[in-house]
Amino acid sequence: MALVVKKFGGSSVATPEKILAVAQRVLAEKSLEDKVVVVVSAMGDTTDDLISLANAVMDPVYNNSREMDMLLATGEQISIALLSMAFARLGQPAISLTGMQAGVQSNTAYGKGRILDITPERVLAELNKGKIVVVAGFQGVTPDGDIITLGRGGSDTSAVALAGALRADACEIFTDVDGIYSADPRVVPTARKMKEITYNEMLEMARLGAGVMQPRSVEMGKFYGVPIHVRSTFTQNEGTFIREEYTVEEKEFIIRGVTHDTNVAKIAVLGVPDRPGIAYKLFSALAEANIDVDMIVQSVRSTQKNIIDMVFTIAQPDIVQARQIVEKIGEELGTMGVQVEENVAKVSVVGAGMLGNPGIAANMFGALADAEINIEVISTSEISISCVIKAEQVNEAVQAIHARFFSAS
Ligand code: ADP
Ligand code: ASP
Ligand code: MG
Repeated sequence: MALVVKKFGGSSVATPEKILAVAQRVLAEKSLEDKVVVVVSAMGDTTDDLISLANAVMDPVYNNSREMDMLLATGEQISIALLSMAFARLGQPAISLTGMQAGVQSNTAYGKGRILDITPERVLAELNKGKIVVVAGFQGVTPDGDIITLGRGGSDTSAVALAGALRADACEIFTDVDGIYSADPRVVPTARKMKEITYNEMLEMARLGAGVMQPRSVEMGKFYGVPIHVRSTFTQNEGTFIREEYTVEEKEFIIRGVTHDTNVAKIAVLGVPDRPGIAYKLFSALAEANIDVDMIVQSVRSTQKNIIDMVFTIAQPDIVQARQIVEKIGEELGTMGVQVEENVAKVSVVGAGMLGNPGIAANMFGALADAEINIEVISTSEISISCVIKAEQVNEAVQAIHARFFSAS
């Protein structure tokens, strides 16, 4: 007997036929004694459609985040009800549960809730009655009892966290690709599929834009020690395992993957007084508003003493709020103005092998230079290097960098 958690993403449940096919596949893979939890996302582009609906009604000047989550969470509720009906049609008892009913407890950061704890008693009780439990991904409940969503791609995190809390034997993420590739296969059709990748490298790839897994889901996998199998809904092929250490010999690549992220905006605060405490004031205000600041560059003005420019990047949905905060503080500090640029993207290389391998950065910059792509901001971590470039050049940049590092594969 095994307890398994299977997650099906939006494209896997996009139509009634696909929902029936998911139910059939789950049953075909289930032995009589197996306990199965299925986590599902909203059908197809439902979440995007709901966001458009909200945008047509709301004024972004107001904080609509609680109501936005109330709206977005409905997408997943459609899927769980329909999938449970599909199981019933196939003679399999099943029950749908919302995130709240499944015990997914989150903090109160609307739109990007973080799971704090999972109390899956109801899930266990229903499994023990012989039912398949179908849980709405992407949603949880705040300490006040409000519904909240977990950020785009959050169903991955719901699935991995539930697998951890239930001590599941396996966690499978079914999606529209058959594994993790060395770059987004939509951008680099020759990208290489991996048999395995470590939590740390996958976390960095996800953080830097590989949308196939939400970063927080990989953190959860690492925290609970749950191996995650990312595989295709539409084929039987083995996918990619995300785990702590490599278990099979793979061709050694110093770089594991090239990622890109177009969900980036660049903010420049111009003419900031160069004295202690300024960065603290700015970035603590952004942190209080739950705005993640990514790359930060402080540049000295050679012509004017005691004045600097500060440039940093954030995620695009945070632009309105970040601009309000930065402009307010900018006025208090007497800065020369704030510029927001949305037409940017980030391209990164990721790999634990770059530690102690000088020359990776030069190679990446060389690939961009040969493609005549200008770099606006650079940042590095122990296992990654990222460059901000113009958004319209991002595909070309990924292709050029991938060709540079993976040409021999
Ligand atoms: P789901 O709806 O199943 O959650 P997503 O669209 O969120 O699916 O994630 C799957 C997509 O992630 C793929 O179609 C692929 O284009 C994209 N992707 C980005 N980077 C990678 C990568 N390195 N490997 C595989 N897929 C990737
Ligand atoms: N439906 C949500 C989204 O589109 C959550 C998910 O798909 O994981 O982001
Ligand atoms: Mg996803």
